[in-house]
Amino acid sequence: MKKLGKYSIGLGDRFGHQGHAQLKAIIEAGKKGSDITPVWNKSNREHIIIGTQPSDVRLEADTVTKNAGFKKPYFVDADHINLDTVDKFTGSSDFFTVDVASYIGKRADDTEIKNFIGAAGKFAGKLEVPGIKKPLKCSRAQLQNIAENYLFAAKKAGEIYTKIERSKGAGNFVTEVSMDEVVTPQTPVELFFILGMLAFEGIPLQTIAPKFSGRFNKGVDYAGDPLKFAVEFEEDLMVVAHAIKEFGLPENLKISVHSGSDKFTLYSHIGSIIRKYDKGIHLKTAGTTWLEEVIGLAEAGGEALDFVKEIYIRSLEKIDELCAPYADVIDIDIKSLPPAGEVSRWNSKKFAGSLRHIPGNPEYNPNMRQLIHVAYKLAAQKTDTFFRLLEEHKQVVGRCVYENIYNRHICRLFDI
Ligand SMILES: [Zn+2]
Repeated sequence: MKKLGKYSIGLGDRFGHQGHAQLKAIIEAGKKGSDITPVWNKSNREHIIIGTQPSDVRLEADTVTKNAGFKKPYFVDADHINLDTVDKFTGSSDFFTVDVASYIGKRADDTEIKNFIGAAGKFAGKLEVPGIKKPLKCSRAQLQNIAENYLFAAKKAGEIYTKIERSKGAGNFVTEVSMDEVVTPQTPVELFFILGMLAFEGIPLQTIAPKFSGRFNKGVDYAGDPLKFAVEFEEDLMVVAHAIKEFGLPENLKISVHSGSDKFTLYSHIGSIIRKYDKGIHLKTAGTTWLEEVIGLAEAGGEALDFVKEIYIRSLEKIDELCAPYADVIDIDIKSLPPAGEVSRWNSKKFAGSLRHIPGNPEYNPNMRQLIHVAYKLAAQKTDTFFRLLEEHKQVVGRCVYENIYNRHICRLFDI
Protein backbone atom coordinates (compact mmCIF):
# COMPACT_ATOMS: atom_id res chain seq x y z
CA MET A 1 0.00 0.00 0.00
CA LYS A 2 1.19 3.52 -0.78
CA LYS A 3 1.80 4.91 2.65
CA LEU A 4 2.16 8.53 3.59
CA GLY A 5 5.06 9.18 5.95
CA LYS A 6 4.67 10.36 9.52
CA TYR A 7 5.32 13.98 8.65
CA SER A 8 4.11 15.43 5.39
CA ILE A 9 3.47 18.86 4.04
CA GLY A 10 1.09 19.94 1.30
CA LEU A 11 2.72 22.42 -1.03
CA GLY A 12 0.77 24.66 -3.34
CA ASP A 13 2.45 26.03 -6.43
CA ARG A 14 -0.20 27.63 -8.57
CA PHE A 15 1.93 28.43 -11.61
CA GLY A 16 4.20 25.42 -11.31
CA HIS A 17 7.51 27.29 -11.30
CA GLN A 18 8.66 26.90 -7.70
CA GLY A 19 8.71 23.17 -7.10
CA HIS A 20 12.50 23.11 -6.92
CA ALA A 21 12.61 25.84 -4.25
CA GLN A 22 9.91 24.09 -2.24
CA LEU A 23 11.74 20.79 -2.50
CA LYS A 24 14.95 22.47 -1.36
CA ALA A 25 13.18 23.37 1.90
CA ILE A 26 12.11 19.73 2.35
CA ILE A 27 15.65 18.51 1.68
CA GLU A 28 17.08 21.02 4.15
CA ALA A 29 14.61 19.86 6.83
CA GLY A 30 15.73 16.27 6.15
CA LYS A 31 19.34 17.28 6.76
CA LYS A 32 18.27 18.74 10.09
CA GLY A 33 16.62 15.46 11.09
CA SER A 34 12.99 16.14 10.12
CA ASP A 35 11.95 13.74 7.39
CA ILE A 36 8.99 15.33 5.63
CA THR A 37 7.15 13.91 2.65
CA PRO A 38 6.34 16.59 0.08
CA VAL A 39 2.85 16.52 -1.42
CA TRP A 40 2.08 18.89 -4.26
CA ASN A 41 -1.56 19.89 -4.03
CA LYS A 42 -3.78 21.79 -6.40
CA SER A 43 -7.55 22.03 -6.40
CA ASN A 44 -9.94 21.95 -9.31
CA ARG A 45 -10.79 25.60 -8.60
CA GLU A 46 -7.13 26.61 -9.02
CA HIS A 47 -6.79 24.58 -12.21
CA ILE A 48 -9.83 26.27 -13.69
CA ILE A 49 -8.78 29.79 -12.70
CA ILE A 50 -5.26 29.34 -14.06
CA GLY A 51 -6.05 27.09 -16.98
CA THR A 52 -3.79 24.20 -15.98
CA GLN A 53 -4.34 20.45 -15.91
CA PRO A 54 -3.64 17.93 -13.14
CA SER A 55 -0.97 16.42 -15.40
CA ASP A 56 0.98 19.71 -15.11
CA VAL A 57 1.37 19.18 -11.36
CA ARG A 58 2.51 15.59 -11.92
CA LEU A 59 5.08 16.76 -14.46
CA GLU A 60 6.38 19.43 -12.09
CA ALA A 61 6.68 17.02 -9.14
CA ASP A 62 8.39 14.34 -11.25
CA THR A 63 10.78 16.85 -12.80
CA VAL A 64 11.91 18.68 -9.67
CA THR A 65 12.40 15.50 -7.67
CA LYS A 66 14.37 13.91 -10.52
CA ASN A 67 16.55 16.99 -10.99
CA ALA A 68 17.30 17.14 -7.28
CA GLY A 69 18.03 13.41 -7.06
CA PHE A 70 15.27 13.15 -4.43
CA LYS A 71 14.79 9.43 -3.85
CA LYS A 72 12.21 9.55 -1.06
CA PRO A 73 8.45 9.29 -1.60
CA TYR A 74 6.46 12.29 -2.80
CA PHE A 75 2.84 12.68 -3.85
CA VAL A 76 0.54 14.66 -6.10
CA ASP A 77 -2.70 15.56 -4.34
CA ALA A 78 -6.04 15.97 -6.11
CA ASP A 79 -7.09 18.60 -3.63
CA HIS A 80 -10.74 18.93 -2.59
CA ILE A 81 -12.21 16.69 -5.25
CA ASN A 82 -15.75 15.35 -5.24
CA LEU A 83 -17.83 12.99 -7.34
CA ASP A 84 -18.10 15.53 -10.17
CA THR A 85 -14.44 16.52 -10.41
CA VAL A 86 -12.48 13.39 -9.50
CA ASP A 87 -12.23 11.87 -12.98
CA LYS A 88 -9.76 14.30 -14.47
CA PHE A 89 -7.36 13.75 -11.55
CA THR A 90 -7.18 9.97 -11.49
CA GLY A 91 -4.45 9.67 -14.08
CA SER A 92 -2.04 12.14 -12.48
CA SER A 93 -2.65 11.94 -8.74
CA ASP A 94 -1.68 9.40 -6.13
CA PHE A 95 -3.17 11.33 -3.22
CA PHE A 96 -6.86 12.24 -3.16
CA THR A 97 -8.46 14.75 -0.83
CA VAL A 98 -12.06 13.64 -0.92
CA ASP A 99 -14.11 16.69 -0.02
CA VAL A 100 -17.45 15.86 1.57
CA ALA A 101 -18.28 19.38 2.77
CA SER A 102 -21.16 19.87 0.36
CA TYR A 103 -22.79 16.61 1.49
CA ILE A 104 -22.72 17.40 5.21
CA GLY A 105 -26.16 18.09 6.65
CA LYS A 106 -27.94 15.97 4.05
CA ARG A 107 -29.82 13.05 5.52
CA ALA A 108 -29.04 9.42 4.77
CA ASP A 109 -31.82 6.81 4.53
CA ASP A 110 -33.51 5.88 7.79
CA THR A 111 -32.37 2.28 7.43
CA GLU A 112 -28.77 3.37 6.94
CA ILE A 113 -28.97 5.63 9.98
CA LYS A 114 -30.48 2.78 11.99
CA ASN A 115 -27.76 0.38 10.86
CA PHE A 116 -25.03 2.82 11.80
CA ILE A 117 -26.49 3.46 15.22
CA GLY A 118 -26.84 -0.29 15.65
CA ALA A 119 -23.14 -0.72 14.98
CA ALA A 120 -21.80 2.34 16.80
CA GLY A 121 -24.39 2.65 19.56
CA LYS A 122 -22.16 0.83 22.02
CA PHE A 123 -19.93 3.92 22.10
CA ALA A 124 -22.76 6.26 23.09
CA GLY A 125 -23.10 7.45 26.66
CA LYS A 126 -19.68 8.09 28.10
CA LEU A 127 -16.92 7.72 25.56
CA GLU A 128 -13.67 6.90 27.30
CA VAL A 129 -10.78 8.01 25.14
CA PRO A 130 -7.27 7.23 26.39
CA GLY A 131 -5.39 10.49 26.89
CA ILE A 132 -8.53 12.54 27.50
CA LYS A 133 -9.13 12.88 31.24
CA LYS A 134 -12.90 13.33 31.29
CA PRO A 135 -14.97 10.85 29.26
CA LEU A 136 -16.56 12.58 26.28
CA LYS A 137 -20.32 12.75 26.55
CA CYS A 138 -22.51 11.50 23.75
CA SER A 139 -26.16 10.76 24.40
CA ARG A 140 -28.24 8.57 22.11
CA ALA A 141 -29.97 11.69 20.79
CA GLN A 142 -26.59 13.24 20.01
CA LEU A 143 -25.48 10.11 18.19
CA GLN A 144 -28.70 10.19 16.16
CA ASN A 145 -27.93 13.81 15.33
CA ILE A 146 -24.36 13.03 14.27
CA ALA A 147 -25.62 10.23 12.03
CA GLU A 148 -28.22 12.53 10.47
CA ASN A 149 -25.60 15.17 9.82
CA TYR A 150 -22.65 13.13 8.61
CA LEU A 151 -23.67 9.64 7.48
CA PHE A 152 -24.75 10.76 4.02
CA ALA A 153 -21.41 12.55 3.56
CA ALA A 154 -19.50 9.44 4.70
CA LYS A 155 -21.45 7.33 2.21
CA LYS A 156 -20.54 9.80 -0.55
CA ALA A 157 -16.89 9.58 0.51
CA GLY A 158 -17.23 5.82 0.13
CA GLU A 159 -18.66 6.25 -3.36
CA ILE A 160 -15.84 8.58 -4.40
CA TYR A 161 -13.24 6.28 -2.89
CA THR A 162 -14.66 3.30 -4.79
CA LYS A 163 -14.59 5.27 -8.02
CA ILE A 164 -10.89 6.09 -7.53
CA GLU A 165 -10.09 2.55 -6.46
CA ARG A 166 -11.73 1.13 -9.57
CA SER A 167 -9.55 3.32 -11.72
CA LYS A 168 -6.22 3.16 -9.86
CA GLY A 169 -6.39 -0.13 -7.99
CA ALA A 170 -6.48 -0.60 -4.22
CA GLY A 171 -3.37 0.47 -2.36
CA ASN A 172 -2.01 2.61 -5.17
CA PHE A 173 -2.99 5.93 -3.68
CA VAL A 174 -3.42 7.80 -0.41
CA THR A 175 -6.90 8.83 0.69
CA GLU A 176 -7.72 11.89 2.75
CA VAL A 177 -11.23 12.98 3.67
CA SER A 178 -11.75 16.70 4.21
CA MET A 179 -14.56 18.43 6.02
CA ASP A 180 -12.87 21.75 6.64
CA GLU A 181 -14.75 23.91 4.16
CA VAL A 182 -17.91 24.16 6.26
CA VAL A 183 -19.23 26.74 8.71
CA THR A 184 -19.46 24.61 11.85
CA PRO A 185 -16.39 22.90 13.32
CA GLN A 186 -16.62 19.22 14.20
CA THR A 187 -16.24 18.39 17.87
CA PRO A 188 -13.92 15.56 18.97
CA VAL A 189 -16.98 13.37 19.63
CA GLU A 190 -18.27 14.01 16.14
CA LEU A 191 -14.84 13.30 14.70
CA PHE A 192 -14.80 9.91 16.46
CA PHE A 193 -18.10 8.82 14.96
CA ILE A 194 -17.28 10.25 11.54
CA LEU A 195 -14.14 8.12 11.53
CA GLY A 196 -16.33 5.16 12.44
CA MET A 197 -18.60 5.89 9.48
CA LEU A 198 -15.64 6.18 7.10
CA ALA A 199 -14.24 2.90 8.43
CA PHE A 200 -17.62 1.18 7.90
CA GLU A 201 -17.50 2.47 4.31
CA GLY A 202 -14.25 0.56 3.89
CA ILE A 203 -12.12 3.62 3.20
CA PRO A 204 -8.45 3.02 4.08
CA LEU A 205 -8.16 6.55 5.33
CA GLN A 206 -4.64 7.91 5.92
CA THR A 207 -5.48 11.52 6.72
CA ILE A 208 -8.56 13.32 7.98
CA ALA A 209 -9.04 17.07 7.74
CA PRO A 210 -11.57 18.32 10.26
CA LYS A 211 -12.75 21.87 10.60
CA PHE A 212 -11.27 23.39 13.74
CA SER A 213 -12.61 26.33 15.71
CA GLY A 214 -11.42 29.77 14.70
CA ARG A 215 -10.67 31.31 11.32
CA PHE A 216 -8.08 29.83 8.96
CA ASN A 217 -7.86 32.64 6.46
CA LYS A 218 -5.58 32.21 3.47
CA GLY A 219 -2.02 33.38 3.87
CA VAL A 220 -2.44 35.13 7.22
CA ASP A 221 -2.27 34.06 10.85
CA TYR A 222 -4.94 32.20 12.80
CA ALA A 223 -7.82 34.27 14.11
CA GLY A 224 -9.00 32.73 17.36
CA ASP A 225 -7.64 31.60 20.71
CA PRO A 226 -4.52 29.47 20.10
CA LEU A 227 -4.78 27.86 23.55
CA LYS A 228 -8.33 26.73 22.88
CA PHE A 229 -7.18 25.40 19.52
CA ALA A 230 -4.42 23.45 21.28
CA VAL A 231 -6.94 21.73 23.59
CA GLU A 232 -9.19 20.88 20.64
CA PHE A 233 -6.28 19.62 18.55
CA GLU A 234 -4.95 17.44 21.37
CA GLU A 235 -8.40 15.89 21.91
CA ASP A 236 -8.75 15.26 18.18
CA LEU A 237 -5.37 13.56 18.18
CA MET A 238 -6.46 11.23 21.00
CA VAL A 239 -9.76 10.56 19.25
CA VAL A 240 -7.98 9.57 16.03
CA ALA A 241 -5.75 7.12 17.93
CA HIS A 242 -8.81 5.64 19.63
CA ALA A 243 -10.71 5.36 16.34
CA ILE A 244 -7.78 3.51 14.74
CA LYS A 245 -8.06 0.93 17.49
CA GLU A 246 -11.83 0.68 17.67
CA PHE A 247 -12.63 0.80 13.95
CA GLY A 248 -9.56 -0.86 12.48
CA LEU A 249 -8.48 2.18 10.46
CA PRO A 250 -4.91 2.29 9.08
CA GLU A 251 -2.27 2.63 11.80
CA ASN A 252 -0.74 5.68 10.12
CA LEU A 253 -4.01 7.65 9.99
CA LYS A 254 -3.23 11.20 11.03
CA ILE A 255 -4.73 14.65 11.16
CA SER A 256 -4.41 16.93 8.19
CA VAL A 257 -4.49 20.61 9.03
CA HIS A 258 -5.77 22.62 6.10
CA SER A 259 -3.95 25.60 7.42
CA GLY A 260 -4.30 28.08 4.60
CA SER A 261 -0.59 28.71 5.34
CA ASP A 262 0.95 31.11 7.82
CA LYS A 263 -0.70 29.93 11.04
CA PHE A 264 2.36 31.03 12.96
CA THR A 265 0.65 31.22 16.36
CA LEU A 266 -0.47 27.57 16.02
CA TYR A 267 2.66 25.86 14.72
CA SER A 268 4.46 25.63 18.07
CA HIS A 269 1.31 24.18 19.70
CA ILE A 270 0.76 21.62 16.95
CA GLY A 271 4.46 20.74 16.95
CA SER A 272 4.77 20.24 20.69
CA ILE A 273 1.54 18.20 20.91
CA ILE A 274 2.49 15.79 18.10
CA ARG A 275 5.95 15.36 19.60
CA LYS A 276 4.49 14.77 23.08
CA TYR A 277 2.45 11.81 21.75
CA ASP A 278 4.83 10.82 18.96
CA LYS A 279 2.15 11.32 16.31
CA GLY A 280 2.30 12.34 12.68
CA ILE A 281 0.83 15.34 10.91
CA HIS A 282 -0.05 16.51 7.43
CA LEU A 283 0.17 20.27 7.13
CA LYS A 284 -1.51 21.52 4.02
CA THR A 285 -0.39 24.95 2.97
CA ALA A 286 -2.14 27.18 0.46
CA GLY A 287 -0.65 28.55 -2.73
CA THR A 288 1.30 31.26 -0.94
CA THR A 289 4.15 30.47 -3.31
CA TRP A 290 2.36 32.92 -5.61
CA LEU A 291 2.69 35.61 -2.93
CA GLU A 292 6.40 34.87 -2.66
CA GLU A 293 6.67 35.24 -6.43
CA VAL A 294 5.09 38.67 -6.16
CA ILE A 295 7.39 39.61 -3.28
CA GLY A 296 10.45 38.39 -5.19
CA LEU A 297 9.48 40.36 -8.29
CA ALA A 298 8.90 43.44 -6.13
CA GLU A 299 12.39 43.04 -4.69
CA ALA A 300 13.85 42.67 -8.16
CA GLY A 301 12.63 46.19 -8.98
CA GLY A 302 12.35 47.78 -12.42
CA GLU A 303 9.90 46.15 -14.81
CA ALA A 304 9.22 43.35 -12.33
CA LEU A 305 8.18 45.82 -9.63
CA ASP A 306 5.98 47.67 -12.13
CA PHE A 307 4.34 44.37 -13.10
CA VAL A 308 3.33 43.49 -9.53
CA LYS A 309 2.19 47.05 -8.82
CA GLU A 310 -0.07 46.75 -11.85
CA ILE A 311 -1.45 43.46 -10.51
CA TYR A 312 -2.28 45.15 -7.21
CA ILE A 313 -3.90 48.16 -8.87
CA ARG A 314 -6.04 45.91 -11.06
CA SER A 315 -6.94 43.75 -8.07
CA LEU A 316 -8.42 46.85 -6.40
CA GLU A 317 -10.64 47.36 -9.45
CA LYS A 318 -11.71 43.70 -9.55
CA ILE A 319 -11.83 43.09 -5.83
CA ASP A 320 -15.38 41.70 -5.69
CA GLU A 321 -14.85 39.26 -8.52
CA LEU A 322 -11.51 38.05 -7.14
CA CYS A 323 -12.71 37.62 -3.58
CA ALA A 324 -16.04 35.92 -4.32
CA PRO A 325 -14.72 32.33 -4.67
CA TYR A 326 -12.74 32.78 -1.43
CA ALA A 327 -15.33 34.59 0.69
CA ASP A 328 -15.20 32.02 3.52
CA VAL A 329 -11.43 32.02 3.85
CA ILE A 330 -10.43 35.67 3.65
CA ASP A 331 -11.21 38.73 5.78
CA ILE A 332 -10.17 41.89 4.03
CA ASP A 333 -10.71 45.29 5.63
CA ILE A 334 -11.12 47.36 2.48
CA LYS A 335 -10.41 50.63 4.31
CA SER A 336 -6.93 49.36 5.19
CA LEU A 337 -5.93 48.71 1.58
CA PRO A 338 -3.44 51.30 0.32
CA PRO A 339 -4.84 53.28 -2.62
CA ALA A 340 -3.50 52.76 -6.14
CA GLY A 341 -1.94 56.23 -6.38
CA GLU A 342 0.08 55.66 -3.22
CA VAL A 343 1.30 52.18 -4.20
CA SER A 344 2.39 53.33 -7.64
CA ARG A 345 5.03 55.50 -5.89
CA TRP A 346 6.31 52.71 -3.61
CA ASN A 347 9.83 51.32 -3.88
CA SER A 348 10.77 47.64 -3.75
CA LYS A 349 11.30 47.58 -0.01
CA LYS A 350 7.94 49.12 0.80
CA PHE A 351 5.99 46.85 -1.59
CA ALA A 352 7.75 43.65 -0.47
CA GLY A 353 7.55 44.65 3.22
CA SER A 354 3.79 45.23 2.95
CA LEU A 355 3.23 41.75 1.56
CA ARG A 356 5.76 39.60 3.38
CA HIS A 357 4.31 38.01 6.50
CA ILE A 358 6.64 39.22 9.21
CA PRO A 359 4.51 39.81 12.31
CA GLY A 360 5.60 42.96 14.05
CA ASN A 361 6.93 44.62 10.90
CA PRO A 362 5.01 47.91 10.74
CA GLU A 363 4.98 47.72 6.93
CA TYR A 364 3.20 44.33 6.88
CA ASN A 365 -0.40 44.69 5.70
CA PRO A 366 -2.48 41.49 6.03
CA ASN A 367 -5.34 43.03 4.01
CA MET A 368 -3.14 43.73 1.03
CA ARG A 369 -1.59 40.29 1.43
CA GLN A 370 -4.96 38.55 1.29
CA LEU A 371 -6.07 40.55 -1.71
CA ILE A 372 -2.92 39.71 -3.64
CA HIS A 373 -3.31 36.10 -2.56
CA VAL A 374 -6.61 35.83 -4.44
CA ALA A 375 -5.40 37.99 -7.35
CA TYR A 376 -3.39 35.24 -9.06
CA LYS A 377 -6.06 35.14 -11.74
CA LEU A 378 -4.72 38.48 -13.01
CA ALA A 379 -1.24 37.04 -13.48
CA ALA A 380 -2.82 34.03 -15.21
CA GLN A 381 -4.10 36.47 -17.83
CA LYS A 382 -0.58 37.73 -18.51
CA THR A 383 1.50 34.60 -18.32
CA ASP A 384 3.85 35.64 -21.15
CA THR A 385 5.22 38.57 -19.18
CA PHE A 386 4.81 36.92 -15.80
CA PHE A 387 6.71 33.75 -16.70
CA ARG A 388 9.45 35.74 -18.45
CA LEU A 389 9.93 37.85 -15.31
CA LEU A 390 9.93 34.75 -13.10
CA GLU A 391 12.63 33.28 -15.30
CA GLU A 392 14.72 36.49 -15.30
CA HIS A 393 14.50 36.79 -11.52
CA LYS A 394 14.44 33.14 -10.53
CA GLN A 395 17.25 33.55 -7.98
CA VAL A 396 15.50 36.16 -5.88
CA VAL A 397 12.05 34.57 -6.29
CA GLY A 398 13.36 31.09 -5.45
CA ARG A 399 15.01 32.45 -2.32
CA CYS A 400 11.72 34.02 -1.18
CA VAL A 401 9.84 30.74 -1.77
CA TYR A 402 12.47 28.71 0.05
CA GLU A 403 12.70 31.04 3.04
CA ASN A 404 8.94 31.15 3.38
CA ILE A 405 8.47 27.38 3.47
CA TYR A 406 11.60 26.59 5.43
CA ASN A 407 12.01 29.41 7.95
CA ARG A 408 8.47 30.50 8.52
CA HIS A 409 6.66 27.15 8.33
CA ILE A 410 8.88 24.07 8.69
CA CYS A 411 11.24 25.48 11.33
CA ARG A 412 8.34 26.67 13.47
CA LEU A 413 6.34 23.44 13.21
CA PHE A 414 9.22 21.01 13.61
CA ASP A 415 11.18 23.15 16.07
CA ILE A 416 14.31 23.25 13.92
ZN1 LIG B 1 -9.20 22.54 2.74
